[in-house]
Amino acid sequence: MKRRWWVWVCVVALGLILGGAQGKWESLAITADFTRQNIQLPPAVRYPLPPSLAQIPAKGPDYFDEVQPVEVGYLLWTEFPITVAIEPPPWDPNHVWQTAAEQAVREWAAYLPLEIVDSSLPANIRLLSQRPTEQNNRRARFAETSYDLFVDDQRVLRHRCRVVVRPSQAPKFVLGALRHELGHALGIWGHSPLPTDALYFAQVADPPPISQRDVNTLRRVYEQPTRLGQRLPELRPHG
Ligand SMILES: [Zn+2]
Repeated sequence: MKRRWWVWVCVVALGLILGGAQGKWESLAITADFTRQNIQLPPAVRYPLPPSLAQIPAKGPDYFDEVQPVEVGYLLWTEFPITVAIEPPPWDPNHVWQTAAEQAVREWAAYLPLEIVDSSLPANIRLLSQRPTEQNNRRARFAETSYDLFVDDQRVLRHRCRVVVRPSQAPKFVLGALRHELGHALGIWGHSPLPTDALYFAQVADPPPISQRDVNTLRRVYEQPTRLGQRLPELRPHG
């Protein structure tokens, strides 16, 4: 079987806003970091597994060792349902992109509570067909997932994800990319070494469905501690 070795590129963009309006991507500062802003992080805690993941047997083959924690711990969601907004391309013949995005959400919804919300609303995850600021960048990547950290008005540390999958490929690749990137957005912040997993690091001729190994890995991610969902300590004056 001939494989296409287009490498998935999943770029991490990290930003932080403090006390800003929720749901406005444009207001995010992508380059900010906690150290520079002298922010005291809340402690990392473990959350109960969502029931849909708890029913999966604890032991099974996975690639959890390839999943990276970020500076706030593992990148998992702590409140459910996880809301997803879908922004298809302006020109989407036969709703190919929109349909693929809805299917990718449906597939992962078997393992985590997901809810599609209107694209005009704030959402935990946004599935976009292109990044507005890069419309004229011909070297732009086919797919990428980024996340931002922010502190909400209750001083709770939170994140949100943005998935960009360009529409300029055959439908099965668009679906494969959305499925793969959504896996990152749900917490699998790493890649599988096996081509039979949706989170395989390269694109293959026939993108595989979500595998048992993908699901086992997702379960292990949600067993890990994270600072997300926790309230920031009270500010103390610096001496
Ligand atoms: Zn990836």
